[in-house]
Amino acid sequence: MYAGQRSIRDGIEDFMCPFTDFYMTCGPNESQFHMGTMAIDVRGAEPGVCYAYYAPATVRCITTYPQSGQAMWQTVNNVRCSNGYIGKVTFMTVHDDTLNAYPGMVVNQGDQLGNMGTKGYATGVHCHIECSQSDNTSWWQNSYGNWNFNYEVDPEDVFFMDNTNILNGMGNWKYLSDVPVKDKVTPNVDRDEYKNQIEVIVPELRVRTDASLSAEILSYAGQGYFDYYETRDNDDYTWYRIADNQWIAYSDEWERVYPAKPREEFVNIPPTIEARNIYMLDDKLQFAALNPGNTDGLSYKILSKDGEYAEIAIGNVWIKVTDSTPVTNEPQYSRGNK
Ligand SMILES: [Zn+2]
Repeated sequence: MYAGQRSIRDGIEDFMCPFTDFYMTCGPNESQFHMGTMAIDVRGAEPGVCYAYYAPATVRCITTYPQSGQAMWQTVNNVRCSNGYIGKVTFMTVHDDTLNAYPGMVVNQGDQLGNMGTKGYATGVHCHIECSQSDNTSWWQNSYGNWNFNYEVDPEDVFFMDNTNILNGMGNWKYLSDVPVKDKVTPNVDRDEYKNQIEVIVPELRVRTDASLSAEILSYAGQGYFDYYETRDNDDYTWYRIADNQWIAYSDEWERVYPAKPREEFVNIPPTIEARNIYMLDDKLQFAALNPGNTDGLSYKILSKDGEYAEIAIGNVWIKVTDSTPVTNEPQYSRGNK
């Protein structure tokens, strides 16, 4: 990114690469100092120059370690990363000789975050940066003696490299055009306990064209309820189909599942009454004859169907039923004076 660059799409900041010139001198898991971490060391165009770097998104300082020019930052809002992740990012920058950060300090996307330097243990001017796709701020020492976050990811999966000049450190770097922003899917539905439903509890959940992590990301599902029509286990997830060719993966951090409650099929009607309990379910009429002797030859004809109710005939009996709920606990019918 360049100084002052901002990138917001669909109301969500893109997490930009904080460096204008990017010369990577040590990658994830490389050398004894990065073993067991996803940290990278980056210098600028010329060695030994303390180039500025910029806030990749709008961030807040969580804590500082002044003796090593070190600050832990977290995005103020959910941000979009180059692997499609949308959520909080927590990251550490190290070796800034000019460190002026303090806990609670907010830096807007594109404003200067710090300078490359040598403070702490550094063999040359650079910025050591490591990122976690999480709001978790645990910072712990691994078995190699190196400090790291939970949920650390390779910066290739975090940074958008637009307007960053990559001088060294080729990799699978991504650009804004690699992660197009797509519309949200199928509007949510109302809660209905008689339908199979899944509630999305995160702001944005990827919707794929098939029940597979390798399927195309079609769009995003927002918070709320969706009907589901099918489930499938694949790629270590259970997938829910919320529309034709639209699948979401299940995690208890992302969704809650509500299988349909079975409809009550019979209600108590005194057995001496020759009556049939009638339900209208969706577009189908279902009949349950409560007196076994009356089930033979049961047939009906829809006389009319108009919005709230339908009139049907069984033999010479006309019955008016309302939509989608049991008519009543008592049989409702009238003799044919229609
Ligand atoms: Zn480093």
